[in-house]
Amino acid sequence: MKVASTMTAVGLPPAPGGGSWAATGGRSSKALVLNATMEPLCVVPARRAVVLVLSSKADVVQTNGHRFRSAELDIAAPSVVRLRSFVRVPYRRRAALSRRGVFIRDGHTCQYCGRNAENVDHVVPRSRGGAHEWENVVAACRRCNSRKRDYTPAEAAMALRRQPYAPRAAFWLVVAVGGVRDDWAAYLGDVTSAG
Ligand SMILES: [Zn+2]
Repeated sequence: MKVASTMTAVGLPPAPGGGSWAATGGRSSKALVLNATMEPLCVVPARRAVVLVLSSKADVVQTNGHRFRSAELDIAAPSVVRLRSFVRVPYRRRAALSRRGVFIRDGHTCQYCGRNAENVDHVVPRSRGGAHEWENVVAACRRCNSRKRDYTPAEAAMALRRQPYAPRAAFWLVVAVGGVRDDWAAYLGDVTSAG
C-alpha cells in the first residue's frame, strides 16, 4: 500500500532497544503523518510515529491524551506528527475510486432523493457508455437506483443534488480510516472537496 512505500522513503529506524511498546486506549493506535509542508502524507501505527519522533525525524504536532509506555519510556502518544524534512511525493494521484469512497464523499446519502444510500449508481449507465469514474458515480438508495435503471438522469427525470467529482488525493487517508477523525480534521483540510 501507499503507506508502506511512503514510509520506506522516510527511512524508518527500528524500535529503540528492540523493546515492545504498549499503548493505552484503542484510539491511539494510529497517527497522521504530515509532510514538512504540513500536507497530509500517510497514516501509520502510532508506535511508528513515536519512533519517528524519538529518532528526530518528526515532531509531535498533536497528542490525543493516551500514553505510550515501555520499560524505559512513558510519553504522550502522538496522533499527528510532522516530518522534519520534506518527502517528495512523486505525483499527485487521484484518489482510487471505491464503493466505500463514494459513500464517504456523498455522506452516505442518495444523491437523487437524500435518503440513506445503499447502492452505487452510474449516472450515465455503463450500458450506455458511462465511465466507471468518480465523476460518473454517486451513492443512491435502492429505490432510486432501481427506478433509474438504464436511463440517464434526464430520461428518468431524476435530478442530481450535486455533481459528482473526483476528490483530492489525500482523500484516501480519510477512506483508510473510515472518516475524518476529529483530531485530524484540522490537518486534512477539506479533502473530500474537488481539487
Ligand atoms: Zn434515493
